[in-house]
Amino acid sequence: MVLLAVHGGAGGDGAWRGMTDADPQRLRCMFVLLERLGAQLADGSLDALEAVTLAVEAMEDEALFNAGRGSVLDAEGRITMDASVMRGTDRAAGSVVALTQSRHPVRVAHHLLQQGWPVMLVGQAADDFGGAAGVEQVGNDWLKTELRQAQWQKWRDAKLHPGATDEDDALLDHDGEEDGWGTVGAVALDANGQLAAATSTGGMTGKPLGRVGDTPIIGAGTWADDRVAVSCTGVGEAFIRTAAAHTTAVNHRTMSLQEASKRVLDDVAPLGGRGGLIAVSAQGEVVVPFQTMLMYRGVYRDGVVSVGIGPDMEEGFRP
Ligand code: ASP
Repeated sequence: MVLLAVHGGAGGDGAWRGMTDADPQRLRCMFVLLERLGAQLADGSLDALEAVTLAVEAMEDEALFNAGRGSVLDAEGRITMDASVMRGTDRAAGSVVALTQSRHPVRVAHHLLQQGWPVMLVGQAADDFGGAAGVEQVGNDWLKTELRQAQWQKWRDAKLHPGATDEDDALLDHDGEEDGWGTVGAVALDANGQLAAATSTGGMTGKPLGRVGDTPIIGAGTWADDRVAVSCTGVGEAFIRTAAAHTTAVNHRTMSLQEASKRVLDDVAPLGGRGGLIAVSAQGEVVVPFQTMLMYRGVYRDGVVSVGIGPDMEEGFRP
């Protein structure tokens, strides 16, 4: 049995309000990559580590997700991206922080994992490492989309007018909800029973310079060992303070994956970090819980792909 699950970020408050015009494109991206990579996992031509890396790369290339091209802009209107990847068998890990020019941050993290040491690289040195390893280098402007620039402009206008009304703030929040948060992640169980997890993000719109969320922090946003692989999404600070991904793995030693992940999200929420996670176990469990209005997510299992955004998974979805 093989498993592949992905997420494309969690967010929003209140009841599910249905799909936006952009959502079918996000679903299509997840569906297509799950069908392709799931089949390769099933026939044994892909291992878990490469599967999660390719899955995240495909979502970094989809401009509607907040990773790679289409990442959100920081306080100064620049894109800085974080990513990490972990292999369960030997807990090898690679993590990169504040990349500004690598097209595929997760591939830079993957190269770092394969090199074996160090586990983390930050800033220009990480981009340079990626470039030397063959990861395509692009300009920061190439990574920016009109949608993200418009969101950033709204964020800045609201900041520049301290007298902004609650209604303005609500509008900004609402836009955020409609576009989702968009961080991406993947977890996999391959034909040899090996697990891996990967996560990639542009962070949060208007984040202060130098801010690092949970995504590149091994044990917070990403974790894999010989029993479970986890990728998280949500307000990163709360996932860091609960060591969310690792805590899911520890909980799972004594309870089902469903219960283990629920307890973690229950812990995260009071710290202001409602969100979601995806996890697979070596025994073949797969869970995709979230506490927000939505979480973009999809699962490949036994040749069947299901994708979802709101509370229900859509098994019948065809791109
Ligand atoms: N966890 C990411 C961060 O805090 C954002 C997200 O998942 O939406 O950078």
